[in-house]
Amino acid sequence: MNPRQMTTWTTEDSARLYRIRDWGAGYFDLSDKGEVTAKVGFPAGEVQVSLMDIVSGIGERGLQMPLLLRIENLLDARIALLNESFRAAMARQGYQGSYQGVFPIKVNQQRQVIEEIARFGARYGHGLEAGSKAELVIALSTLPGNGSVVVCNGYKDREFIDLGLRSLKLGYRCIFVIETPTELPIILERSKALGIRPLIGMRAKLATTVGGHWNKTSGDRSIFGLTTSQLIEVVDELKAQGMLDCLQLLHCHLGSQIPNIRDIRSAVMEACRYYINLVREGAPMGFLDLGGGLAVDYLGSRANHTQSMNYTIDEYSAAIVEVVMETLDANQVPHPTIVTESGRPTVAYYSLLLFNIFDVTHFEAGALPSTPPPDENPLIHHLYEVLERLAAGNLQQCYNKTCFYRDEIREQFKRGQVSLRTRSLAENLILEILQRILAILEKNGETPPELEGLREQLADIYYGNLSVFQSLPDHWAIGQVFPVMPIHRLGERPSREAIIADITCDSDGRIDNFIDVHGTRKTLPLHPLKDGEEYYLGVFLVGAYQETLGDLHNLFGDTNVVSVRINEDGSFDLTREDQGDSIADILGYVQYNAKELFERFRKLAEQGVRQGSLSIAERQEILECFAAGLRGYTYFER
Ligand SMILES: *Cc1c(COP(=O)(O)O)cnc(C)c1O
Repeated sequence: MNPRQMTTWTTEDSARLYRIRDWGAGYFDLSDKGEVTAKVGFPAGEVQVSLMDIVSGIGERGLQMPLLLRIENLLDARIALLNESFRAAMARQGYQGSYQGVFPIKVNQQRQVIEEIARFGARYGHGLEAGSKAELVIALSTLPGNGSVVVCNGYKDREFIDLGLRSLKLGYRCIFVIETPTELPIILERSKALGIRPLIGMRAKLATTVGGHWNKTSGDRSIFGLTTSQLIEVVDELKAQGMLDCLQLLHCHLGSQIPNIRDIRSAVMEACRYYINLVREGAPMGFLDLGGGLAVDYLGSRANHTQSMNYTIDEYSAAIVEVVMETLDANQVPHPTIVTESGRPTVAYYSLLLFNIFDVTHFEAGALPSTPPPDENPLIHHLYEVLERLAAGNLQQCYNKTCFYRDEIREQFKRGQVSLRTRSLAENLILEILQRILAILEKNGETPPELEGLREQLADIYYGNLSVFQSLPDHWAIGQVFPVMPIHRLGERPSREAIIADITCDSDGRIDNFIDVHGTRKTLPLHPLKDGEEYYLGVFLVGAYQETLGDLHNLFGDTNVVSVRINEDGSFDLTREDQGDSIADILGYVQYNAKELFERFRKLAEQGVRQGSLSIAERQEILECFAAGLRGYTYFER
């Protein structure tokens, strides 16, 4: 669909163009007013709230763009979906065990996220997964002690193990998953010293490999987990110590974002074999932990593609329950508690990044003389000829000639044979020709392969008030595609094609990969800016992994963060407002002291007064300016 070819435009056309109903998973839609809405289900029915209403509510409270918006209801909905889906699959298939969800803290460690998961997850007994001491401290101080499950992965030292062991006394079911054989002696020693018997799990290195970006987490060469011979060694050691009864969990994690359900099935089948054998060795077991991997459909294409998935959560839970049941039943092994550590699908939908556009560059010709100045460079005359003869039948030829003349002009300029004025006229003419070629191509709807890059080459650059490095690190680091679209004006035709540059002035600080019907595209249709009116875009599904992987490139700091809770009557409450970093905060991260900086600058200003280059009033003004700079938001402020 090409917006420029369509004569009328409605909100429905925007819904199709931006595919919001595909990636939005029922949580996002468009209103009749042409605004993106968040949709929340209540017993009495569905409620929709326009993101623009939230933006203006936040603006009135003095918080500027960019802004990370968290919609608490969506997190609740995801936790409910995951738990209910397993419950339903188990009930339907007659599974004898139960489901235990744990949220891996590393996916989003922010306090309010973890607290919300603990609060809402309580009704399902949702637990936490900790991969480091810091995360264990978070888990133990957030979950209530009575029976809460805390799965401890990662490398564990004495301090980690002591804390975990002692937490058992408070009623936590804190399970140490052995990742490397060297952990076992420490666990045994500390357990003897403290007189507390541990809960032990083992992480197996499965031979099954999976597709997707993180597939190196699976297979023989995975850097995590125990080989088969190491598993046997651990079992033998536990037997020798009379502690095999402590072995209760088998863990495997094949990587994040597994796009293909068949890979999941075969991995679960292999995991079941390990489980059955450990039961036969005499371990009590009871937990089968399948790790993460449940994907998010960023593209909304329901396909076996790294940024998508060819299954739903219901298919995922049904497949796991079915494979576990069939494999274990055939071996008369009781059904375990199935644990999953789904982080990405739990939090991805819940956060979105909102930002405004502060400038645009167009690649369009300025005013051109209707005929070439007679004594101009012959190349200019040639370009005028191309412009005159340009027609649907000779686009390729005209394009080739134009490129040739462009290279010639630039070459001559380098050698000093062409003036800046002539080159400027030439570049203008070239843009005019290329734009006309593109216009004809779009009308015909068919693009020859040689001309495919033209749209990208002529696309506008919209300057967005955000830092890709701070807020969308996976976009920059691994080419992750997030859905991006305007959150208003969707009843209007988006007549421009654009890429988005961020505020960091780094050539990597850009978004130039967008979702499309068949995978991805290089430009995004957007609306022309209107004078005196902000234009707001949203980047969706950014709740997983983006917040703490982000960095301070060019010293753009944390954005403002606002949480909202949508109520049954369609109103919403701002449940939390966190101001982003000020410039003084950011300078502190790189060891500057704001007070000291101000002091130094004050001395300089005072010197200026003494030498007569500043009046006392001017000294006050420049100091006030400097102080305001330190207090300011690191982003573009209006
Ligand atoms: C990262 C990680 C997860 C989270 O996986 P997702 O598929 O991203 O939800 C779960 N378990 C372990 C051990 C991990 O390292």
